[in-house]
Amino acid sequence: IYILGIESSCDDTAAAVLHNGKILSNIVATQEVHKQYGGVVPELASRAHQQNIVPVIHQAIAKANIVKKDISAIAFTRGPGLMGSLLVGTSFAKSLAMGLDIPLIEVNHMQAHILAHFIKEDGFDQPEFPFIGLTISGGHTQIVKVSDYFAMEVIGETIDDAVGEAFDKSAKILGLPYPGGPLIDKYAQKGNPKAFKFPKPKVEGLNFSFSGFKTAVLYFIQRETRNNPDFIKENLEDICASIQYTIIGILTDKLKKAVKETGIKQIAIGGGVSANSGIRNALKEAEKKHGWKCFIPKFEYTTDNAAMIAIVGHYKFLKGEFSDFSTTAKARYKI
Ligand code: ATP
Ligand code: FE
Repeated sequence: IYILGIESSCDDTAAAVLHNGKILSNIVATQEVHKQYGGVVPELASRAHQQNIVPVIHQAIAKANIVKKDISAIAFTRGPGLMGSLLVGTSFAKSLAMGLDIPLIEVNHMQAHILAHFIKEDGFDQPEFPFIGLTISGGHTQIVKVSDYFAMEVIGETIDDAVGEAFDKSAKILGLPYPGGPLIDKYAQKGNPKAFKFPKPKVEGLNFSFSGFKTAVLYFIQRETRNNPDFIKENLEDICASIQYTIIGILTDKLKKAVKETGIKQIAIGGGVSANSGIRNALKEAEKKHGWKCFIPKFEYTTDNAAMIAIVGHYKFLKGEFSDFSTTAKARYKI
């Protein structure tokens, strides 16, 4: 089975080819145009997708060393995401499937962030059902009980900002360019995580809240720079380490709670923030300390990519779950 996956939900145009669940190619074109605006500009994103989609798909097919006729089905991101961005991938996937006369398969982007763990990869174990999925990305923060490939239940989620936003907005307060998450990670590695203390939000159950955290960082920086204008420069590594330490604490506290409530000790993380070295280390420690088994995806399957879309397509193909050509992009799309 050859699946071509297409992803265009936000600001990355991506295409990948999987053969029986194994990667043949995985191409991502990251849009640089948003950097100067400090965030993704939806209109610019959809225009860039239009420019990128044909070359990206061509590259994915060429790198896979196949021809279009070999493709068994086309999987595309139906949502959630930015409407204009989704429309580009959706229309393209539809026309290509129609032209090649092969099945079309719609994919939920958040399901894909979790099922990315099933991409067959040497040296990487796959979780067994049931497991707990923690999706931490630029738009979502969810704890998901995964009973089967397509039996997922959200048992906790953010009531305001996503954890990726907490990273990016904190970074912005520190004057770092967008997206700041990876930079906080970088500086944090040389800093003292206990240098500064930030409050953890009190949210019931398994839900999260990050908007108060961001405000706490803002007030802290305002207060300190009033006394010392060079405060950020002099303490950047410690500030980043402390911010990251607090955010990871918020995530692991809820994970502990989820494990306690469900009795499930297998944790699989996904989404852009799972690239964070701090969260990766924290989970490795939790394996030793709490007897969890944690699954951390390969770096290229954490942020937006089409391989994860294609793997969902693969499992839907096996089930014969195909989409109608009347299917449309869906900006809000629950898993
Ligand atoms: P969604 O998947 O919810 O639609 P998205 O696709 O925009 O959102 P992803 O591409 O999965 O999000 O993740 C992007 C986010 O991951 C950004 O907020 C970015 O700052 C964050 N991120 C990436 N690498 C790291 C890192 N090493 N440490 C912390 N955050 C990171
Ligand atoms: Fe994503």
